[in-house]
Amino acid sequence: MAARTDQTGDPKLLEQLLQARRGTAFFARKLNELTDADLDGASLLPGWTRRHVAAHIGYNARAIARLIDWAATGVETPMYASPEARNQEIEFGATLSPIALRNLFDHSAVHLNVEWRDLPPDAWHHKVKTAQGRVVPAEETVWMRTREVWVHAVDLDSGATFEDIPAPVLERLLKDITTAWATRGTDAGLLVRVSGQEARQESGDSRADGPVAVSGRLAGVVQWATGRGTTGVTATERSAPLDEIPAAPKWI
Ligand code: ZN
Repeated sequence: MAARTDQTGDPKLLEQLLQARRGTAFFARKLNELTDADLDGASLLPGWTRRHVAAHIGYNARAIARLIDWAATGVETPMYASPEARNQEIEFGATLSPIALRNLFDHSAVHLNVEWRDLPPDAWHHKVKTAQGRVVPAEETVWMRTREVWVHAVDLDSGATFEDIPAPVLERLLKDITTAWATRGTDAGLLVRVSGQEARQESGDSRADGPVAVSGRLAGVVQWATGRGTTGVTATERSAPLDEIPAAPKWI
């Protein structure tokens, strides 16, 4: 999915586009490794089969493409008509034939890539609204998609792990999550420590008296923070090891 003709020349944005394109290619690879019969199997997301994950990623590309249309034309086109419409669309998509489901993913990804490629440099700063109601510049859609394709590639449960996700993506993801917790105040008494890096990174409730600290390497910590398991992390309370790792606060 090389795009040598992006209209934007902003090096930072081009780097981000590369990360989104790499993630999309990674998701495609993981999806292609699944047989048609495998698609009926469970994903890592409760209540969702792999079909639901593939359908969601396809419709997500279409929804983000609508935001790019909005940025390009100034005509407001929301990602989804409503949260219910979004969920119904995924439920419907999950019933598609394997070939239709794979086509949905492929075509929507190509379409989004073309929309991004052709968006004039100035329009990247135009404001659009996310499904959660946040008003963001169109540039933000690149990160929104990046996050979806990398994390849901793991959710396909076809062998991908958080270790496969590039460190800059993991770092930004962890920042998103811990910022969301801090905004909601759901991280009271919780410290998150990333080890194995030059400077130990710590986030969470730094003012807590006797906090519970969850620690591990970046991939393990992010896996835990997204609510996808506790392999690769340890927990302590007042420096004493805990047998049970506490569940991460809700993220989305
Ligand atoms: Zn998602």
